[in-house]
Amino acid sequence: MTTLCVFCGSSVGRPDTFARSANALGSAMASRGIDLVYGGGSIGLMGVVADAVLTGGGQATGIITEALAGHEIAHQSLSNLEIVSTMHERKARMAELSDGFVMLPGGVGTYEEFFEAVTWAQLRIHDKPCGVLNVDHFFDDLLRFLDGAVDSGFIKEERIRQLTVTDDVAFLLNALESTLSAQSPG
Ligand code: AMP
Repeated sequence: MTTLCVFCGSSVGRPDTFARSANALGSAMASRGIDLVYGGGSIGLMGVVADAVLTGGGQATGIITEALAGHEIAHQSLSNLEIVSTMHERKARMAELSDGFVMLPGGVGTYEEFFEAVTWAQLRIHDKPCGVLNVDHFFDDLLRFLDGAVDSGFIKEERIRQLTVTDDVAFLLNALESTLSAQSPG
C-alpha cells in the first residue's frame, strides 16, 4: 500500500485519546512509507494526522475546496495541496489517489465520506479496502446499528465483514496491506 486516504474530524474531540490515536496513525504511516491523502485541513484530527505524517518524514496530500481553502484553514505545509471546485470533486480525487480508506472519529462529514467509499466498494466502482479505527469504542453504537441493518436485511453481512474494525493502528495497517496484497499477489 502506498497511499491511504484518512477521513476524520475537523474537530479534535474530547478526551485527547482521539488526537493521540490520530497522531499514532500518522506516525505509523510515515514509518511504513505510506503516504496520506486527506481533506487538506489544518484543524481538528485532520491537522493532527497530517502533522504526524509530515513530522515522521512522510508525504501528505490535501484535497480541499476553494471555499474551505478561502477560510485560511488549508494546511500550509503539505507536500501537495490540490484545490478543487466542489465537495464531489474532492471526494472523487481523494478516492482516485488512494489504495484504501480509513475512518477515525469525527462528525457527519467524516461519516459521509467514509460511507461513500464503502458504497463505492459495494457498487464495485473500486475494490479498495476500508477500515475503521475504533478509538475508545467511539464507533461501537454505529457498528451495532450496522449489525442491526444486517439483521433487518438491508446490508449484506459480507459487506460488514469486509471492513477492518480495530482500535490498534498496527493491526489496521497490516490488515489493509494484506487485503491489498491478496488482491494483487506478487
Ligand atoms: P466532520 O467530521 O463533520 O468534522 O467533517 C470532516 C470533514 O469536514 C472534512 O473531511 C471536510 O470535508 C470538512 N472540513 C471541515 N473543516 C475543514 C477544514 N478546515 N479543512 C478541510 N476540510 C474541512
